[in-house]
Amino acid sequence: MKKIAVVGAGIIGSCTAWSLLKRGYQVDLYDKDAPMAHTSQSSSKLLHGGLRYLETGQFKLVHKALQARQFWLQQAPHLCRQLELLFPIYKHEGRPKWQIGLGTKLYDVLANGSGFPKSKWLSADETLRRSPHLNTHNLLGAYSFYDGQMDDYQLGQWVVQQILDLHGQVFTGRPVNTLAELQDYDAIVNATGPWVMHLRSQQDTPPAIAIDWVRGSHLFVDQPLQQALMLPIPNEKRIFFVLPYQGKTMIGTTEIRQDHPESEPASEAEIDYLLQSYNQYHQQPLSRADVCDTFAGVRPLLKDAINPSNSTREWAFETVGKVLHVYGGKWTTAQIQGEAACEELLKCLN
Ligand SMILES: Cc1cc2nc3c(=O)[nH]c(=O)nc-3n(C[C@H](O)[C@H](O)[C@H](O)COP(=O)(O)OP(=O)(O)OC[C@H]3O[C@@H](n4cnc5c(N)ncnc54)[C@H](O)[C@@H]3O)c2cc1C
Repeated sequence: MKKIAVVGAGIIGSCTAWSLLKRGYQVDLYDKDAPMAHTSQSSSKLLHGGLRYLETGQFKLVHKALQARQFWLQQAPHLCRQLELLFPIYKHEGRPKWQIGLGTKLYDVLANGSGFPKSKWLSADETLRRSPHLNTHNLLGAYSFYDGQMDDYQLGQWVVQQILDLHGQVFTGRPVNTLAELQDYDAIVNATGPWVMHLRSQQDTPPAIAIDWVRGSHLFVDQPLQQALMLPIPNEKRIFFVLPYQGKTMIGTTEIRQDHPESEPASEAEIDYLLQSYNQYHQQPLSRADVCDTFAGVRPLLKDAINPSNSTREWAFETVGKVLHVYGGKWTTAQIQGEAACEELLKCLN
C-alpha cells in the first residue's frame, strides 16, 4: 500500500488526508502545532460563495463554493447552519440598489439546487424590524440572502476525527523541517498554508506560483446579535460583516498585506477601522471599551492582484518530484480542493 505524508493539519491538509484515506492510501498527517491551530480557526466562520467575488467576475469559484456549502451542512449539521444575511441599501451611498439586486439574483442562479432559500428585497420597515440599531436616515431597505455559518475550529476537529476513524495517523507538535525527513514516503503533500514556501524553497527549481500573505482581523463585542449584516466599508470597494457568533457580535475583517507567514494580533489601527465602519451604520456607536476580544489569521492567497481584496480565493497545485505543493483556497471549498489534490497526486504516483 502506498504511504503518503501530508504536512499541515489546517483544513486544506486535513481534507486532503481524508480524501486520500477514503481512496485506500496509508496517510500520516503532520502539524508543527495542532490541527486548526492557525488560519483555519481564524476565518469569518462563513460557508459562503462570496457575494463580493461576483464583482471581480469569479463566477466559477462562486458557483463551486455555493454548491460546496451544502456538503458541510449535510455532513456535520451540529457544527454549521444556514445564515440569513442582510445587505442594507442607503440612498446615494455605496453600491446602487440595482447592482446588489443583480448580484443576489446571480447568487441565486449559481446556488441553484444547493438547498438554500433564495434572496429577496425587504422594505426599510422590515429591515429595521430585523436590525433595529441600523441608521434609519436614507435607508431604502435591504437585500436578504443566505450563506452558511460554522464553528471553524470544531468543524476542522470533526474532519480530523474522520481521518482517525479511517486509521490515518495524526502527529501534532511535529514540525517537518526538511523534505529529506520524509524520504521514505511514496509521496508528500505540502499543505502548510501560509508556510508553503518553506518546504517548496528546499527544491532546486523556482516555484511556479507566488503567494501573498494577507492578514485579516476580527473583533468581538459581548452583545448578542439578532441579524447578520454584510455592509460596504464607507468610501471603499471592500465589505465587512457584522455576525452573530456564539452569543456575541463578531465584526470583520481587514486585509493587510504582510511579508511573512506568522499571524500578528489585530493592530489598534485595524480595531479602529472596524469600529469606525460599524459606527457609520449604527445608531449606538461602539467604542474600544466594548471590544472584549480579537483574533487574526493570515490568508495564503495566490498572488494575482495589486489590491489583495481582488485576489482570487482559487487554489493551485504544483508537483515537483514526489511532492505536491498546495497553494491558496478557502475553507468552504476545502473538501473539493482535497479531492482535487488527490487526483493530482494520483498522476505522480502512477
Ligand atoms: C481573516 C480570514 C477570514 C476568512 N474567512 C473565510 C470564510 O469566512 N470562509 C471561507 O471559506 N474561508 C475563509 N478564509 C480562508 C480560510 O480560512 C483559509 O483558506 C484556510 O483556513 C486555509 O487553510 P490551510 O490549511 O491552508 O492553512 P492553515 O490553517 O494555516 O494550516 C496550515 C498548517 O500547517 C502547519 N504547518 C506549517 N508549517 C509546517 C511544517 N513545516 N511542519 C508541520 N506543520 C506545518 C501549521 O501549523 C498549520 O496548522 C478566511 C481567512 C482569513 C485569514
